[in-house]
Amino acid sequence: MIKLHDKYFKPFLSEDEIRIAVKRVADAVAADYKDKTPIFVGVLNGAFMFVSDFLKQYPYPCEVSFVKLGSYKGLTSTGIVETLLEAPENIEGRTVIILEDIIDTGRTLQELVHMFSHTNAKEFKIASLFYKSEVYNGEYAIDYFGMEIPDKFIVGYGLDYKEQGRNLKEVYQLNQNHMINLVL
Ligand code: 5GP
Repeated sequence: MIKLHDKYFKPFLSEDEIRIAVKRVADAVAADYKDKTPIFVGVLNGAFMFVSDFLKQYPYPCEVSFVKLGSYKGLTSTGIVETLLEAPENIEGRTVIILEDIIDTGRTLQELVHMFSHTNAKEFKIASLFYKSEVYNGEYAIDYFGMEIPDKFIVGYGLDYKEQGRNLKEVYQLNQNHMINLVL
């Protein structure tokens, strides 16, 4: 069990389980985009570890860029997605593949679709390491994902709780029973 700020988190995914999920996404994308030199666009901050490990597993020619969006404050989505770093320039006619750490309600994805609809990219795809399918509420089909996970708040491997926990090599899940455990 680890503590970040006022909350306790319990182990959820090991480094091996994460590695397998990352490779699953990289292999699926590689099979489809081998000869297309896609531009991978990582969504900061949360996707930085995923982007790094994904690229090491992606063996074909490609480019990489980043955008920065934010919608979470603490444990819940604020519902307002801010654009903090815009889409890269010069993507006319190119295949853009978004690399997201996690798809939750889909609001961030909606904002990304909107952001890239103003460019002349030829093709737009989304690849997410984690996917909370129970709560996903968007219209856009998730093209690639590494693992479906339950609707529980997680930290580690780039994902934060109030900016802490991004450096953890494993993924941890919010322990909602901690107070009950202490009382019992
Ligand atoms: P959405 O816009 O799909 O609701 O949420 C996507 C964004 O919210 C992610 O890029 C991530 O920053 C954040 N997020 C969603 N679920 C979680 C979670 O379980 N843990 C953390 N740390 N962030 C999350």
